[in-house]
Amino acid sequence: MSARILIVDDVPANTRLLEARLLAEYYQTATARDGFEALNMARDWQPDLILLDVMMPGMDGFECCRRLKADAATRHIPVVMVTALGQPAERLRGLEAGADDFLTKPVESDTLMARVRSLVRLKRLLDEWHARSETARALGLGADPFAIPSVVGTRALVVDDWDVSAATSMDALPLEGITAVRARDGKEAMALAQEQSFDLIAISLSLAGEDSLRLISALRGGPRTHETPLLLLAEPEARDQVVRAFELGASDWLTLPVDENELRVRARNQIRRKIYQDRLRSDLGSALEMALIDPLTGLYNQRYLRRHLAGLVDGGQGNQLSVLMVDVDFFKRVNDNHGHSTGDKALRLIADTLRTNTRVFDSLARYGGEEFVVVMPGADQDDAMLAAERLRAAVESAVFNAPSGEPLPLTVSVGIGCAAGRTTTPEALLNTADTALYAAKAAGRNRVMMGALPAVG
Ligand SMILES: [Mg+2]
Repeated sequence: MSARILIVDDVPANTRLLEARLLAEYYQTATARDGFEALNMARDWQPDLILLDVMMPGMDGFECCRRLKADAATRHIPVVMVTALGQPAERLRGLEAGADDFLTKPVESDTLMARVRSLVRLKRLLDEWHARSETARALGLGADPFAIPSVVGTRALVVDDWDVSAATSMDALPLEGITAVRARDGKEAMALAQEQSFDLIAISLSLAGEDSLRLISALRGGPRTHETPLLLLAEPEARDQVVRAFELGASDWLTLPVDENELRVRARNQIRRKIYQDRLRSDLGSALEMALIDPLTGLYNQRYLRRHLAGLVDGGQGNQLSVLMVDVDFFKRVNDNHGHSTGDKALRLIADTLRTNTRVFDSLARYGGEEFVVVMPGADQDDAMLAAERLRAAVESAVFNAPSGEPLPLTVSVGIGCAAGRTTTPEALLNTADTALYAAKAAGRNRVMMGALPAVG
């Protein structure tokens, strides 16, 4: 997973070191020597992640982070503050400035890569979320679905038998609005996790007399917890166990004793990622679907079709592209003589016939009452003509009966608009197809007509 990383540090030796490590993992990098340069580069280059030194002359890292998070053009970019060792106060200041994570100097290679990978994944989810929200907004759906989700009101389970450490976690999480519930051992943790739902589970890897890895494996296999983010709390020397836990599906880790501010950012990031993932899978997906699918036929609606066609025309300057406009002949008679429910059945039959007689990458839409459009990327005049004729014949030969049992012959007329490798617009293609459809109707219906080729342009 390649990503763009901006490294900000006033000491060139530091930037060179980080850059070398990131380049070795195939990340793209850029460097800035002070806060002002960082702000400009963040806006212009739009990195996926910013590694930001705290101590810099002029504008320090805190101020730079605050400005990044205050600017709509950069606030979605994760910022990792690089602080000096053993400075908890700096972490709190970083947190207040809006930092997404921390690294301690000297930056250790594995930790750097773990942080980078984790935040780049979060950024990718955010980008996908943003893209879908833009489509939703462009289509006039909802207010602002692209708000960074709040973790307030979410719930975390803290599995830790050490009272001092547990107390830190139980105090820190509510500062983010996260309700914390404590379990003292694996058995209690499993019982709680089966009864209640949690958005995050923090697990100590040093549970006395217990194998925490077994607990992690059990949680990953549990129906309520198999996708819940697991945050490890590990002694600095427990590196091998951390690696094993990651193989079992742990999401991130913190070293013991727990730093309150570090726990806050890690918990927040993990819960947000879960929220993005869940929403991408359900809410926005179905909201989009509801707004873009014709409920009667299950085909796309005109709104989707226009947007999709605009994308194809923009993206493929001068590519082959054809549009079929399909209209049911004498449909009004079906409705008038046999009722609307019979009319609806006829439309569904035609939609199914279109579906089974087009390619998987063609798009089908119900364009109006009894009008359908097929968008065929890559299809030239001959391809479009063959497809249209196949559709026409398939509808003509389909068996359709009125409620009385009386057979009702159905036919369609088809007009074709073909880009023929020339630059065109969605409107021009649809108009060409519509004019050809009109000609097919005028010529007696149940036939296919090719529209005039677009002018060279
Ligand atoms: Mg510095």
